[in-house]
Amino acid sequence: MSTLKSAPPETETKPNPEEAASVIDTSKMNEGQRAALELTEAAREAPQERRSFVGGLFMGECDFKSVFPFPEQTPHDRDQGDAFLQRLEQYLRDHVDPDAIDRTGEIPDAVIAELGRMGAFGIKIPTQYGGLGLSQTNYSRAAMLLGSYDANLTALISAHQSIGVPQPLIMFGTEEQKKKFLPRVAKGEISAFALTEKGVGSDPATMTTKADPTADGKYFTINGEKLWCTNGVKAGVIVVMAQTPPKVVNGKEKKQVTAFIVEMDTPGVEVTHRCHFMGLRALYNGVVKFTNVVVPRENIIWGEGKGLRVALSTLNTGRLTLPAGCTGAAKRCLQIVKQWSNERVQWGAPIGKHAAIADKIARMAANTFAMESMTLLVASMVDKNKKADIRLEAAIAKLWGTEEAWRIVDETMQIRGGRGYETADSLKARGEDPVAVERLMRDCRINTIFEGSSEIMRLFIAREMLDPHLKVSGAALDSRKPAGERLQAALKAGLFYAGWYPKQWLPLGSALPAGVPGKLARHLRYAVKTSRRLARRLFHAMAVHGPKLEREQVLLGRFVDIGAELFAITATCSRASALMLQGSDEQKAGLLQLADYFCASARLRIDRLFQGLTDNTDRQGYQLAQTVLGSSVRPLEDGIVQEPDRGG
Ligand SMILES: Cc1cc2nc3c(=O)[nH]c(=O)nc-3n(C[C@H](O)[C@H](O)[C@H](O)COP(=O)(O)OP(=O)(O)OC[C@H]3O[C@@H](n4cnc5c(N)ncnc54)[C@H](O)[C@@H]3O)c2cc1C
Repeated sequence: MSTLKSAPPETETKPNPEEAASVIDTSKMNEGQRAALELTEAAREAPQERRSFVGGLFMGECDFKSVFPFPEQTPHDRDQGDAFLQRLEQYLRDHVDPDAIDRTGEIPDAVIAELGRMGAFGIKIPTQYGGLGLSQTNYSRAAMLLGSYDANLTALISAHQSIGVPQPLIMFGTEEQKKKFLPRVAKGEISAFALTEKGVGSDPATMTTKADPTADGKYFTINGEKLWCTNGVKAGVIVVMAQTPPKVVNGKEKKQVTAFIVEMDTPGVEVTHRCHFMGLRALYNGVVKFTNVVVPRENIIWGEGKGLRVALSTLNTGRLTLPAGCTGAAKRCLQIVKQWSNERVQWGAPIGKHAAIADKIARMAANTFAMESMTLLVASMVDKNKKADIRLEAAIAKLWGTEEAWRIVDETMQIRGGRGYETADSLKARGEDPVAVERLMRDCRINTIFEGSSEIMRLFIAREMLDPHLKVSGAALDSRKPAGERLQAALKAGLFYAGWYPKQWLPLGSALPAGVPGKLARHLRYAVKTSRRLARRLFHAMAVHGPKLEREQVLLGRFVDIGAELFAITATCSRASALMLQGSDEQKAGLLQLADYFCASARLRIDRLFQGLTDNTDRQGYQLAQTVLGSSVRPLEDGIVQEPDRGG
């Protein structure tokens, strides 16, 4: 057996756990909070020298160079993508029945086999390992196409390819691992990713699955149980996160999480339960149990103790599939709503002519355009530079895209009225169009929960948003440090802010990109001005709350959401400006109307978010929640069927 040589990972950035630990004061945290924070901080990628576009927004910089002009696919890349997408679309239309898949809870074997033959399981896998070798942009386009048609297939392909074996191996695998596993998974052997456990949802510090090295160090024995492993029921090979023996760093034990490639036919691996959900009824998701499962050391991805960084880095790009799939679903909703709002006549007019419905349609259209613009923009950033720091951009695309997609499906349901709530089969049985809004809604709901729940995405973005400030002033505020060191750090921080802060008040404009129509240029000027306002307000919040700001989740969430809206405005203006260079005058006018409306509504949302920074009920709400959780508010509990005592 060859020994594992750690290949230089394609996207490796320099982690510095010591530095990370030094910028956050953990002294007032409880044991669980500290463990969780230290583990995720150690797994965090150190930001690169050059701030990303969104990273800049939070610091009052609007560097349009990285997002203008909107990146176009090269003709070669587009042709390659088109060829695959045409085959995929034709196959879906002719051979896949999403309602039957939903009804039976099964994806026919023939469909999985054909998807494998056409390369859908290896879209991004390089050709030398048997994949199609397509770009992130083309992969996102495929996810959009699938998302517009069948969410079960989207989840199958995405769990396999975005988080299953292909993505971490492309990023971190050794050449031996790539040669061994990538051709298999490219051809359709299904893979999966197993991190979650009963006690491990968003917090990996509580992981109990263990991998102990054998005496000769050549193997590891895995014991434990993983929950909700998508594709686990059908997979041939999966990535498993497990705790390996702790390391001693500076005299303190540090938990180690390691990523292993595990063959599902290894003795001791067992799928003990197939899980069933509200939607995604054909998800092959299960509980996977490991009893003395022996795995060779060669199957470690990247290195012992680097599992969480493998998982986090994989997810950075991996989670981009979600906004892509959501864009597909949102476009499908628009199609449904367009037809219905024109043909359904009530109160003497097509419902699309009633202002309350028109208002929803405008919002749906504008937000779908913004969602696609962000998704394609971030995908192109990955294609341009595999090492680019896209963490914030991808997290915002996921957070914003999945939340908006849910609202869009909800409004589609409202516009379809009673028919939205009726199943496609029932509609068909009584002779109406089997429009499956009810299925779309069930399938869509999970997107704000998995691959980083909205709450966790906001915390993740907030952590990165605060990073430059923590680096400058964290040591000064850290009560663990000696007074002298803190004073020195405070002086340094003072010097930095003496230069930085006044700049946030000056009416300096970042140069606006060329070729932007006047109406949209107005919104870009707003973005420049507002990014400085955002930076100022964030600084003020830090001054008021000090290290406690980290606990003000709702407040931080507003800053995050302002940054997200500014990114959405920029991506929308960039894409609309590029698209307006071609097409008929009518097309151009439509695009301008779409982008202008989007930016105007985003600005109103931003106004409300700024207002909420000072005018809110956060504190009161938190206290009320604790009252509700901690004691009995009788009127809230009386008059309902009481749950039997669960003996907990
Ligand atoms: C259909 C489906 C498919 C899945 N597929 C996979 C898979 O393939 N592989 C895999 O490993 N996992 C998978 N998961 C697990 C999924 O990623 C988790 O459900 C998700 O990470 C959330 O974990 P949890 O459900 O335990 O929620 P918890 O972590 O228990 O959180 C509960 C709620 O509290 C919030 N919350 C948690 N911590 C905080 C905090 N610090 N601050 C504020 N709010 C907080 C959460 O956002 C959430 O709203 C899947 C789950 C489902 C339902």
